[in-house]
Amino acid sequence: MSRNAKIVCKHFNGIMNDACSAGVNYLSVRDVRFKPYRYPCWGEGRDDICPKRVMPSEADLAVWHEQDARADAIVKAMLGGKLSPCCKAKLDESRVVKKGALRGRGPRYCSKCGKLVCIV
Ligand SMILES: [Zn+2]
Repeated sequence: MSRNAKIVCKHFNGIMNDACSAGVNYLSVRDVRFKPYRYPCWGEGRDDICPKRVMPSEADLAVWHEQDARADAIVKAMLGGKLSPCCKAKLDESRVVKKGALRGRGPRYCSKCGKLVCIV
């Protein structure tokens, strides 16, 4: 995963919420000149459309990176090399979260029959 993919504003909490943790409504800062819309939260669009944007420092990025590594280790310890109990097939991880603090979380399916095996 590229390091750049992780650089988001410290207030960003996901656009499924109405507003970020600094209280800025996502709809009010999105840059509609682009499709899909760009948000200042990811360092895209115009800098001046979100006065509260705080991009993470190198130290913040190091902490996030560590959280990622820890999440990876937990998931590996739980599921490393496991096969589905139903078909003894590999686990389908296509719906698993690929980045951020929730990386590694998500449902695992049997790659053979498609049955839900577990949700981490
Ligand atoms: Zn199966």
